[in-house]
Amino acid sequence: MNENLERILPGEIKPKSFEDLIRDVHEKGLCGQCGGCVSFCSASEIKAIQMSEDGPPRYLNKDNCLHCGICYLVCPQTHILNDELNERYKYKPPIGNWKKIISSQAAMEEIRVRATDGGVVTALLLYLLDHNLINGAIVSKRVGPFNRIPYFATTREEFLEAAGSHFDISNHVVKLEDYNTFIPTITKLKTIPHSDMMRIAVVGTPCQIHSIRKMQELSILPAHVVKYAFGLFCNANFSFHTSGRERMEEKYEFSFDDVENMNIKEDIMLELKDNQTLHVDFNAINDFIRPACFACSDFSNIYADFSFGGLGSKDGYTTVLIRTEMGDEVYNNALREGYLQEKYDLNTSIKKSEMLAKIIGFSTRKMERARATLEEKNLI
Ligand SMILES: Cc1cc2nc3c(=O)[nH]c(=O)nc-3n(C[C@H](O)[C@H](O)[C@H](O)COP(=O)(O)OP(=O)(O)OC[C@H]3O[C@@H](n4cnc5c(N)ncnc54)[C@H](O)[C@@H]3O)c2cc1C
Ligand code: SF4
Ligand code: SF4
Ligand code: SF4
Repeated sequence: MNENLERILPGEIKPKSFEDLIRDVHEKGLCGQCGGCVSFCSASEIKAIQMSEDGPPRYLNKDNCLHCGICYLVCPQTHILNDELNERYKYKPPIGNWKKIISSQAAMEEIRVRATDGGVVTALLLYLLDHNLINGAIVSKRVGPFNRIPYFATTREEFLEAAGSHFDISNHVVKLEDYNTFIPTITKLKTIPHSDMMRIAVVGTPCQIHSIRKMQELSILPAHVVKYAFGLFCNANFSFHTSGRERMEEKYEFSFDDVENMNIKEDIMLELKDNQTLHVDFNAINDFIRPACFACSDFSNIYADFSFGGLGSKDGYTTVLIRTEMGDEVYNNALREGYLQEKYDLNTSIKKSEMLAKIIGFSTRKMERARATLEEKNLI
């Protein structure tokens, strides 16, 4: 057992196993399907557990489980190691440690036309790749008009292809009820060579970055290959189903057949065929929110090197919270070398404080939502 694990699990304590994770997380409706347990399972070679299409991960072969407890430790919903991580990442409620808040965009138009907001995530990934600071990045890739999958991108072309997180539902090839906005990007980590020469970036939601940080805290392979954690803001993820959808169409007087794109920012934005954008408040579509997201308290991705969202910026720009020294250095170098531009004037303290107020507001509400959910389930 490595010494970090020994610190958490002193010799005489029997580690918890996947069965405990099922009891304490899955059965309480808390599994956000981040993929952490499956990605870092000690028995991954012999396939003890696997992701499932329609719910929490499950045993593939229970007899192969080594009862090592890693899955339990890395799960963001067990909250083990939160004190250690809060100390390491200098957590201050409600949005964590941050050095700078900026609204910027990619300088390359090629990125901007594909990007979700300002394309800053893709521009920074390209900066890292061009300077041989990473071998690649775990992102998500569109594989159809409707579906994205986790993807390890290693070339400029692949980075550009991965840009954006628009939920393009224009073609209706897949039925809406089959559509889930959450992509378990970190399951790709299993496929990355564990070599000490390997340096990668990971783009992920707060639950995914949390799982990676826990794994790094415990020095579990291949945690050491993740050098840059790109965190996305996340209020919730959505699973579409027919009954809720019909009520939403009725309430907002539109048809899902006319939706061309979907984006998440201050609310859900549905771009319709007639170029109108319909704004739908998160509270109005509680029906679609994945149950585990109600119990999740991190909006701004508190353990990332930098966090990104559309919230607080005008269209075509990304809001960036720079958190770590490394994040600061990368952002400043990319800006200096012309990968990014901060075109509109945000240098007045009033505008920055407005952006900050929005992030604090969303973070606080998400924390309150999580507390209420856990209280309702008698879990706190
Ligand atoms: C599921 C989800 C929920 C979000 N919720 C909010 C929110 O509530 N409020 C808010 O302000 N912002 C939210 N965001 C962040 C926002 O949509 C943008 O991703 C962010 O502003 C970065 O924009 P960009 O143009 O700089 O990124 P881009 O340059 O377009 O790059 C985006 C990167 O994210 C990757 N990606 C796309 N989808 C996923 C996914 N599901 N999981 C992991 N990686 C992915 C892409 O492959 C790409 O590498 C959310 C993003 C996602 C994916
Ligand atoms: S082998 Fe370890 S990590 Fe894998 S399922 Fe069993 S207890 Fe969890
Ligand atoms: S939240 Fe993530 S780590 Fe925890 S059980 Fe679900 S998939 Fe596994
Ligand atoms: S709200 Fe976002 S970060 Fe939290 S569990 Fe859901 S997808 Fe993960």
